[in-house]
Amino acid sequence: MNTANDMMLEVPAYSENESFVRAAVGAFAVRLNPTVEELADIKTAVSEAMTNAVVHAYPKEAPGRVIIRVRVLAGNVLCVEIEDNGCGIADVEKARTPFYTTGPVEERAGMGFVVMETFMDEVEVFSAEGRGTLVRMIRRIGAGE
Ligand code: ATP
Ligand code: MG
Repeated sequence: MNTANDMMLEVPAYSENESFVRAAVGAFAVRLNPTVEELADIKTAVSEAMTNAVVHAYPKEAPGRVIIRVRVLAGNVLCVEIEDNGCGIADVEKARTPFYTTGPVEERAGMGFVVMETFMDEVEVFSAEGRGTLVRMIRRIGAGE
């Protein structure tokens, strides 16, 4: 039997769900007994990935679904996946470059992926144009001890 804990959420890509998903993943992560800083890091990274799904994946008039999967790996490692079935990213490597954005330049800094990479140990992006995007982020808790 697999005794590791996990959860899944599915919400529409509405901006009001950004704070909900951030808080829900944060609440789940508390079982790993993170420091205040570790918890803040995880919530910040989740917020960036969720915001991207809300802002970039779907046309405004037809927001699709966002699926959030969270699980505990190897006792003290948190894995978070944020997946959409939206437009996808043509060039993932380019999208991860600092300051690269397709969004309105007045609103977007092009720093979301950089923030995720800064606050998490691993960030993987799987994307196909017209099919969607999956961002997988891994963070080990208690690495500083
Ligand atoms: P910021 O996050 O600083 O407000 P941004 O969202 O443009 O700006 P990133 O989060 O780094 O910056 O994303 C870079 C680019 O990757 C986006 O401008 C967008 O083109 C693309 N992108 C990111 N996530 C998705 C997604 N889920 N679906 C489609 N495109 C995406
Ligand atoms: Mg972003």
